[in-house]
Amino acid sequence: MENVNVDNVNMKDYRFISLGGGREVGGSCYAIKIGRNFLMLDAGIRNTSFNRVPDITPLYSLWGLDGLWELDAVIISHSHIDHTGALPIFMRDINNVRIYSSQATPDMLSAQNKYDSSYNKARDVASISDILIPVEFYKEFRVKDLALKFFPAGHITGAAMTLIQHEDRKILYTGDFCDFNQYSVKGADVPEMKIDTLICESTYGYSKSIGAADLVELAQRINMLMNHSGLIACPVRNSGKAPEIALAVRECMHRKLIPEFDIWLDESSEAFCRVCEKWNGINILGEHIKPINDYIHGSRGLIISGENFSRQPNLAFNMSNHADCDGILDLIFKTKPDKIIFVHGVPLIKSPRNIVNEVRERFGDSIEVIHGINGQEIPLLNK
Ligand SMILES: [Zn+2]
Repeated sequence: MENVNVDNVNMKDYRFISLGGGREVGGSCYAIKIGRNFLMLDAGIRNTSFNRVPDITPLYSLWGLDGLWELDAVIISHSHIDHTGALPIFMRDINNVRIYSSQATPDMLSAQNKYDSSYNKARDVASISDILIPVEFYKEFRVKDLALKFFPAGHITGAAMTLIQHEDRKILYTGDFCDFNQYSVKGADVPEMKIDTLICESTYGYSKSIGAADLVELAQRINMLMNHSGLIACPVRNSGKAPEIALAVRECMHRKLIPEFDIWLDESSEAFCRVCEKWNGINILGEHIKPINDYIHGSRGLIISGENFSRQPNLAFNMSNHADCDGILDLIFKTKPDKIIFVHGVPLIKSPRNIVNEVRERFGDSIEVIHGINGQEIPLLNK
């Protein structure tokens, strides 16, 4: 990445505020001010019935902005509603602000818009997915004095880490990331370079990791359910999980852990699988995995659906698509930041792991580590 030459900007001119998604999982929305450059990183909502929208008043009270229209850009890390759900709400103000995402994210968002009833649709603006400016991974783009680049973050199709460079300073915002390969998405491709500040999600930095699908355990559950009924259902609360569960179940068949049968995708699950095929270069529909329209009454198999099937035994199965504490530590070893701002995590006193404490134990004073608190400004640089 070539350096960007601008007027002298002091260390204190690099600032960060968590507007939402600080010490919580939900409502991710962060603001960065570097000299005269203003960025918003994600614009999510909380999965609650009240206080859903991030509080943007610190932008006025602390940074003196008149409105969101003064932002230079909004960067969307991935399509999940806790990172995008506020876009329709902010849209009137950010109508003329450039909103960047990876190439796959508009497709993910349009599948989400169509099928996810929890998504807060904007009736009076064009579809959000049409407004995003898609940028290839690894390709530099400019926002005023800043040079930015997306890197694959794993997690879900299209998820991106964002490298933000100003002069010779480098800041990496992880969004949600996953360091291990899933069946539907490869693990994150972390930029292996020394960075100044890491703004890092910490969902599983404070808990025991769930990890990727344990196929033996998955097969045991399927076999048990199949003994009771020839047709089982896998309700996926978020149909974005459909590609991963479908491929994990098919892999169980390949390893002969379960008998061969067909997996049927409801319309929304199929839409997410198609996006995944398009952008991740993998085949999902075909061998054993079919659209629900192909279902023949009385067939044995598995239905993956955004709906609940009360009459069928349900396959409930936990899989993680976030880096755990060790995955986050690995990212820190690779990027050697001087400062880490953790966000998107709930620090618990008695949690089995505590990423902040573990970083302090391993790195001592060589890394300043802090957990973002909503509404409070944090200096973005350590030195
Ligand atoms: Zn996510």
